[in-house]
Amino acid sequence: LTKQFLRVIPLLEKIEEHNHEAYFVGGCVRDLILQRPIKDIDITTSATPSEIQQIFPNVIPVGIEHGTVIVRFEKESYEVTTFRTEGDYSDGRHPDHVEFIRNIEQDLERRDFTMNALAMDKEGNIIDLFGGKNDLENRLIRTVGNGRERFNEDALRIIRALRFSSQLGFQIEERTYDAMVASKQAILDISIERITKEMELFFAGDSIKNGINYLVKTKISDVLPIFKDHPGLINELPEEMKPLHTFAEVIAYFQFRFPEISIQQWVKAWKCSNHTKRMADMLCSDIKRYEANGLDEMTIYRLNEEGMKSFIRLVDLIFNVQISLTELHHAKEKLPIQSRSELKINGNHLLSFFPDRKRGSWIKQTLDKIEEAVVTGKVHNQYDEIKEWLKWNPIETN
Ligand code: ATP
Ligand code: MG
Repeated sequence: LTKQFLRVIPLLEKIEEHNHEAYFVGGCVRDLILQRPIKDIDITTSATPSEIQQIFPNVIPVGIEHGTVIVRFEKESYEVTTFRTEGDYSDGRHPDHVEFIRNIEQDLERRDFTMNALAMDKEGNIIDLFGGKNDLENRLIRTVGNGRERFNEDALRIIRALRFSSQLGFQIEERTYDAMVASKQAILDISIERITKEMELFFAGDSIKNGINYLVKTKISDVLPIFKDHPGLINELPEEMKPLHTFAEVIAYFQFRFPEISIQQWVKAWKCSNHTKRMADMLCSDIKRYEANGLDEMTIYRLNEEGMKSFIRLVDLIFNVQISLTELHHAKEKLPIQSRSELKINGNHLLSFFPDRKRGSWIKQTLDKIEEAVVTGKVHNQYDEIKEWLKWNPIETN
């Protein structure tokens, strides 16, 4: 077992001291076997949420009704979920009812794919009821039980199959594949937020070409927002598709390639956050500037760390040009200023230069202009020089 797992063993032992079972489960066991980096360690237990709350002093009740709590343990957080079975997801969002149970077998049975239905005890013994280890070895995505039934219970699993094909580069087992195709209409009924989360991981997958291949072959794009109205989008993806790490990158990419669909349309149809919208707007204008002018000062100036990485990936995918992050950092350090707050002129100065004017949006507009002039070297960041520059560069009056 790796260090990451070893430090959680005392947590499992503590649950066991109270006469309950506890196991590592799901993605972390799968990724341990695959020797992939582990995102988070999830634990499954026979103890109910209230029993867990009695055992540990620091428990955050994130989803008690579904049996999930977060246990804070040695400065780390772990999701601890009670063994359970699930009813249907008739609203496509939440199971109608969950039932806590005392044995792990049925808990593993409710899980989506054989590779995700593995549990491991503190000694490293693996419970593998559905041939998950074998499927991992053969790099196969296979539902636990009958695919049609499992996908009709929760159609998000169809999207998750695509997501894992893109992340892991696995093939989809034949009957599972047929069931995906047969059940794909059910995707229309599930909540878009759940789809967006999985599709963000899909586009970020290291084996995105494998994922796209399945997305095209299964025609599942026909039931996804926007893609369903514009079949060209998926079919015209480049042979050399590369991973995009955030949904903002995905939107910026498609908006650049297919300008007839606005960022607003994407954000609305996929119910993205304001943060995603802002990032998509920024990235999109940055790529357009890049196309027109190459790497210019304002682009470099405006990009924060997250933005830089996204920008690098997009330029690589769209223009096949590799920019290094260090190169961008150096270029940014060389700029006359790093942020607005370093400007030697502020709003109060402007008000004193133009005593007849009231406060208003002209102040921000003028500061924007000054900022751009300083960043692009048209004027030095000095009080007198900027004051003089303003005389020659008239400002808006409203
Ligand atoms: P990742 O490493 O990306 O987190 P994961 O396999 O841990 O992958 P999660 O979404 O974190 O995926 O889910 C944790 C586990 O819960 C899964 O491994 C699977 O066993 C189970 N699971 C999650 N979603 C579903 C679902 N829709 N239907 C059935 N089981 C699911
Ligand atoms: Mg997980």
